[in-house]
Amino acid sequence: MAVICTDAGHGGPDSGASWNGILEKDLNLQFVHQLNALLRQRGHTVYTTRTSDSHVIPLGLRCQLINEHQRLRKPSFDLIISMHANVAVHHTSTGYIPDTKPHGLYFIYDHESKPGMRLATVLTQSCRNRSIPLAYEGMLSTVELGRKLAWIHKTIPVSVLTELGFMTNPAELKRLLTPEYQEQIVHSIADGIDLYLNA
Ligand SMILES: [Zn+2]
Repeated sequence: MAVICTDAGHGGPDSGASWNGILEKDLNLQFVHQLNALLRQRGHTVYTTRTSDSHVIPLGLRCQLINEHQRLRKPSFDLIISMHANVAVHHTSTGYIPDTKPHGLYFIYDHESKPGMRLATVLTQSCRNRSIPLAYEGMLSTVELGRKLAWIHKTIPVSVLTELGFMTNPAELKRLLTPEYQEQIVHSIADGIDLYLNA
């Protein structure tokens, strides 16, 4: 059985993205609660960076604490996974307008990390098996993204960041809020983690 650290992106004063009154930080937390429960049910030890919207540790410190654990504590983390949700917008001279077309889930990984790429690959396969709509065919490297991410580049363990979907796509936002779709995603991720660990 593995030791896993999960992360509900943002929290507290940092809401992350928001659309139609839905805050990304709340959506992320719903998914992480379910993922933690399922992973524990499967016998894994799960640490998580926040369990509520209060007492939120900023991202830089989350990464530091993960690295301290990795250096000093046994057993160390087998992998770490963060949950986020996205919005798509067109920038105009007067501000921005939503782009309602983009939709789908994808995993962001570091292409220089072979285990990171393998983890993203099996997670994508697992989501595909359950017919979860994917953006970027399910995987986007930080090079393709065009920037480095603390969760991936400032942490020692094997790491991926999940973008659960685009809140600006009305059908996807509706789907993301349903217990059935949440369960489908969470099971796909847990299956992918087990595939990665058992390979
Ligand atoms: Zn986010």
